[in-house]
Amino acid sequence: MGENAHTVEYARELDQSDELGKYRQEFYIKEDTVYLDGNSLGLLSKRAEASVKAIMDSWKTLAIDGWTEGEHPWFYLAESLGKQMASLVGAEEEEVIVSSSTTTNLHQLLATFYQPADKKTKILADELNFPSDIYAMKSQLAVKGFGPDDHFVRVKSEDGHFLKEEDIIAAMTEDIALIILPSVLYRSGQVLDMEMLTIEAHRRNILIGFDLCHSIGSLPHDLSKWDVDFAFWCSYKHLNGGPGATGGLYVNKRHLGTTPGLAGWFGSHKGRQFDMSHEMVPAENAGAYQIGTPHILSMAPLIGALSMFTEAGIDPIRSKSLRLTTYFMDLINHELHPFGFVIRNPLAVSQRGGHVFLEHPEAARICKALKSEGIIPDFRSPNGIRLAPVALYNTFEDIWHTVQILKKIMEEKKYKQFENKRGVVA
Ligand SMILES: *Cc1c(COP(=O)(O)O)cnc(C)c1O
Repeated sequence: MGENAHTVEYARELDQSDELGKYRQEFYIKEDTVYLDGNSLGLLSKRAEASVKAIMDSWKTLAIDGWTEGEHPWFYLAESLGKQMASLVGAEEEEVIVSSSTTTNLHQLLATFYQPADKKTKILADELNFPSDIYAMKSQLAVKGFGPDDHFVRVKSEDGHFLKEEDIIAAMTEDIALIILPSVLYRSGQVLDMEMLTIEAHRRNILIGFDLCHSIGSLPHDLSKWDVDFAFWCSYKHLNGGPGATGGLYVNKRHLGTTPGLAGWFGSHKGRQFDMSHEMVPAENAGAYQIGTPHILSMAPLIGALSMFTEAGIDPIRSKSLRLTTYFMDLINHELHPFGFVIRNPLAVSQRGGHVFLEHPEAARICKALKSEGIIPDFRSPNGIRLAPVALYNTFEDIWHTVQILKKIMEEKKYKQFENKRGVVA
């Protein structure tokens, strides 16, 4: 980068030529703040707010008829939103449904696809995965009568930050029935090579599913082409669906028709659901893996939120996200080198997710100092700072400003005014 690459004017130039810049004004961004926590909870957009109002109105004016009438008939909302999400995960429309939450969807997919038989009885995961996924896997093992000590294999990370695909492949032994991995690791932001891992798993007759919580809405996927067996995700991070927004799942076409492990009447064939028979006729698409009545009010914001992704396109979003994180790291290296930060996310573009991950012994209180200055980071115990510049609403100037504030906090040791302890939600 040239001499001017570290000036605010340069940041503004980058913003001027940013084709996605126009979306920022569609979001509610608190004045004088830089929000860098969109990978924990994405911001509210005006479109999402409007679609919530529209669903509230349909309830107000249509009451029970809202299930089948109005602009967004509730009975088909999970399917229609699923179609929009399909392009974000690179799947066919029938392979995706909007339903439940990440953890519940994982339970459903394990109950459906974890079928220990003969020698193949174990689940393979990794030691860096998100706790909720681990809890779900352990409890599904217990349901099948297996203990976590001898049936749950977790691939080790050499450095506590990254996983090596070769280590994962080496762990695909003949006693493994099924593999669950994250697409993007929630701390370091490492992107795993999902295509290669799927090929290797299938070579060994093992099913493989991915948790897309940190990749959906941030980077493109090609699940159908990669032949991934199943996947699941939440909608409140990069997808900006709001707190507790309904998640989603994908089941490869090849597996459609597999009896749902956790059955409920909303998994029924739509034309047969109201036969009220005690013999379930499951839907022929991914809708079969729904359980009970869809959480319409938690899906409502997705109508507006997803329309922005459909319009902007996931490829331009990924490309801007990478430019933002590259710029961020360049400024960090240039401005913050005396202060002991270590960049822990992968540097290579192909392995980098949507956030920058810094480590520092004083991370907890540096985060508190940042917040007091209007910068919203995400603290990850014990010493991590996650900073997610989001393509639809963050600017290059946001990043420039963040690094300047961080520099001031370190130079003036402002973090010392705070306790080095995390809050209840961190
Ligand atoms: C955010 C996240 C979850 C959260 O699960 P919920 O059921 O939505 O609460 C699970 N797994 C991963 C990897 C996550 O990043």
